[in-house]
Amino acid sequence: MGRFDYKLIPTTRCKGKQLLMHKGFTYYQHMFTRFFYCSKRKTGCLARIKLDSDGSIIFADRNHIHGAPNYMKLPSGDYVKL
Ligand SMILES: [Zn+2]
Repeated sequence: MGRFDYKLIPTTRCKGKQLLMHKGFTYYQHMFTRFFYCSKRKTGCLARIKLDSDGSIIFADRNHIHGAPNYMKLPSGDYVKL
């Protein structure tokens, strides 16, 4: 597993926070910690990722109870959910 194999996507909905995209799944930042929870946590999915202070993934629970969402990268570099 690549320890830096993820992308951080700035969110417009929540100022200062970022979405983490890893292997096609997205995670939202918990408070302003280095914990990221699956975007579909409300559905009961408990997958989560923890980053080290240098930004590498030190922990990843990727037992999603759902399929990966479809995101498309725009030429501007933004992502949109399909
Ligand atoms: Zn999930």
